[in-house]
Amino acid sequence: MSFKTIIEPFKIKEIEPLSVTTEEERIGYLKSAHFNPFMLKSEHVLIDLLTDSGTSAMSSKQWAAMMDGDEAYAGSRSWLKMEAVIKDLTGYEYILPTHQGRAAERILYGYLGGKGKVFLSNTHFDTTRANIEFSGAEAFDIPVEEAKHPMLDRPFKGNMDIKALEEHIIKYGAENIGGVILTVTNNSGGGQPVSMQNAIEVKNVCSKYKVKYFLDCCRIAENSYYVNHREKGYEVKTYKQIAQEMFSLADGCVMSAKKDGLVNMGGFLAVKDKSLADACTNLLIITEGFATYGGLSGRSMEAIAVGLQEVFEPDYLKYRIRSTAYLGEKLYKMGVPLIYPIGGHAVYIDAKAFYPHIPVEEYPGQAMVCELYTKGGIRSVEIGSVMFGKYDEDGKLIPAPNELVRLAIPRRVYTQSHIEYVIEVFELLLTGKEKVKGLKIVEEPEFLRHFTAKFDKI
Ligand SMILES: *Cc1c(COP(=O)(O)O)cnc(C)c1O
Repeated sequence: MSFKTIIEPFKIKEIEPLSVTTEEERIGYLKSAHFNPFMLKSEHVLIDLLTDSGTSAMSSKQWAAMMDGDEAYAGSRSWLKMEAVIKDLTGYEYILPTHQGRAAERILYGYLGGKGKVFLSNTHFDTTRANIEFSGAEAFDIPVEEAKHPMLDRPFKGNMDIKALEEHIIKYGAENIGGVILTVTNNSGGGQPVSMQNAIEVKNVCSKYKVKYFLDCCRIAENSYYVNHREKGYEVKTYKQIAQEMFSLADGCVMSAKKDGLVNMGGFLAVKDKSLADACTNLLIITEGFATYGGLSGRSMEAIAVGLQEVFEPDYLKYRIRSTAYLGEKLYKMGVPLIYPIGGHAVYIDAKAFYPHIPVEEYPGQAMVCELYTKGGIRSVEIGSVMFGKYDEDGKLIPAPNELVRLAIPRRVYTQSHIEYVIEVFELLLTGKEKVKGLKIVEEPEFLRHFTAKFDKI
């Protein structure tokens, strides 16, 4: 018997109270935060959908393992556990622990990058792009055409455009390609999955031109769920086997364990090649820590070792993917324009379509983020021209391809009634959306401006 209701496959052992605020209070808090929810105090947030990164609830098994953490500086038992789990999963020989994903990115892309180098990806995540550009290299996003059509129902909208991949390699010269990065699932592209077929085709092109191929594997368990359910021939394989097959195609990976590692902090870099591992280990020791902890405590490494196994459990993955889809499908039925089909870790709303009267220069995504907070205490993030917009020589905004708002779902944190509440807040947003106004940026830093930019209402 298969039931319609997807229950949380866990029960609650410990609770953390939520702080309830009034709309009037929230208007004041948002103003003090310069209309940028990154600058809100979390105690003023009711439902925090800012990110699924580092916000997971850990299991009793993870907490138990943490008590057994070995805090030795070198050769920690906890490191050996984490290393063994990652080796088994990825099949890679050299594993480097890092405090989070971007540290792995800085080491790898800093080493392979630099002026004149080019990186190609289905979509570079913001920290990936920032690390590449900071090294002096260039980053090009080459998603498949269907990724550019938010409502188009296709099974693998996270795929890379293989033709564009080959064209870019020829155009810039294989010797100038710092690396090809396949992001699974494609976070900034809507949390959409990548097919095994595509991962194989990327490998074939990379092998042909002898360019390095890496997986940004933050959500590889979620991606494996989709491959199992949507790609012919993979329904007989386990989620872990699917992930292992995808890892085997690449030369290495970077991971933020704050996503599918089911932990609050951690990451790693893993590669097949010894000379690359040696070079990266040097950088690791200089900036992160010794090679057997890389900026992580022993207990954090214990939690990662357990989390990386729990994340492949079928009941967990089914609940994870289906409960995110539940929110998206309900909003879709209400008439909220969003990226369809629903991605694994988040629902991405098309704010440009929701607020057609707000021009992109006035950031419709940021306007929605502010509305969600004032009306319902929900924190979300703009993934559009605030995050990815650039300026031309005359200071005119070059907008991002889409103006999205991401509702990221923390793993194992919120229950169905929290989600029903979010749906109700959207009902409120739908009425009276014509009156909502855009924003302007009054202060911004050079890199990753969405974190600290200050806004004002227009
Ligand atoms: C989160 C993320 C990163 C960066 O990881 P951090 O742990 O936040 O530094 C890189 N790539 C993708 C796809 C991500 O989702």
